[in-house]
Amino acid sequence: MIPSAFEYHAPTSVAEAISLLGKHGDEAKILAGGHSLLPAMKLRLAAPGVLIDINKIAELRGVVINGSVNIGSMTTWAAIEQHEGLRSALPVLGETVSQIGDLQVRNRGTLGGSLAHADPSADAPALILALDAAIRVRGPGGERTIAAGDFFTDMLSTALEPDEIITAIVFRPLGAGEGAAYVKFAHPASRYAIVGAAAYVKLDGAKVSACRVAVTGAGPKAERQPEVEQAMLGGDGGDEAIAAASAKAGEGMDILGDIHASEDYRRAMVKVYMKRALTTAVGRAR
Ligand SMILES: Cc1cc2nc3c(=O)[nH]c(=O)nc-3n(C[C@H](O)[C@H](O)[C@H](O)COP(=O)(O)OP(=O)(O)OC[C@H]3O[C@@H](n4cnc5c(N)ncnc54)[C@H](O)[C@@H]3O)c2cc1C
Repeated sequence: MIPSAFEYHAPTSVAEAISLLGKHGDEAKILAGGHSLLPAMKLRLAAPGVLIDINKIAELRGVVINGSVNIGSMTTWAAIEQHEGLRSALPVLGETVSQIGDLQVRNRGTLGGSLAHADPSADAPALILALDAAIRVRGPGGERTIAAGDFFTDMLSTALEPDEIITAIVFRPLGAGEGAAYVKFAHPASRYAIVGAAAYVKLDGAKVSACRVAVTGAGPKAERQPEVEQAMLGGDGGDEAIAAASAKAGEGMDILGDIHASEDYRRAMVKVYMKRALTTAVGRAR
């Protein structure tokens, strides 16, 4: 349970952190809350020779709401949960992060760290997909924005280049006629999602005019569910429509079984949790 030896750096600016990443190449790893990286290092599943701790970079922390909702990558779950402005601008964020781990995990774990790690059972990836958030990253070539839909590429893999740092995640606040929800079947010890579902719904009058849904915990990565979305569009968002759409959740998805839940069980739960997420999201949109 003791990690292998590593060199430690604590830069105070993003530029300094990027330059350290460039200098140390594959040997280096960014350290955020450390709630995924440090356990992996203690188990010797990861053995970076250099740790670049970004906790001292003030510009990466905090929430700014100015038309859009900008959350610094180093903002902890607890800070998101307790942010007054977010409770009205995007309450589903607090709802989601309050279900993560326990108080200690929420006090250290960060939104940027969770997205960069891309754990297949993490909660935030599904929500990011349903809300169609944008992920701002910076590297030696400057800044770029990655759409949530392009970010998660495989299990524990993302579109982030090795010399890039996530700086912020940008959301659009929800308005009248829009609703979102995140629900999960949590592992009883870690609280990671055995299955989680996020839903966003927009109603124009009585009709669903936009819908994005995503599932986490069930496959190698969080994934949108286009068949469910298509089935919801143009419908009345009533119980029957939601049941029919939710029945399509998991279609075409690579669903995994493990010691916590079999493939068949997860396939069934994906539909159950999708129905719950959609029902809540439609209720909030009305
Ligand atoms: C007991 C326990 C229970 C948990 N339960 C849940 C749960 O229920 N739901 C859930 O979603 N999560 C859960 N987590 C995970 C936790 O919420 C953290 O979000 C997660 O560990 C990653 O965030 P971090 O800040 O700790 O990142 P770190 O562990 O510091 O880093 C993770 C990876 O991301 C990279 N990285 C970090 N920040 C950046 C950045 N800004 N730019 C580029 N790369 C970066 C690091 O190099 C590393 O590879 C749990 C963790 C523990 C230990």
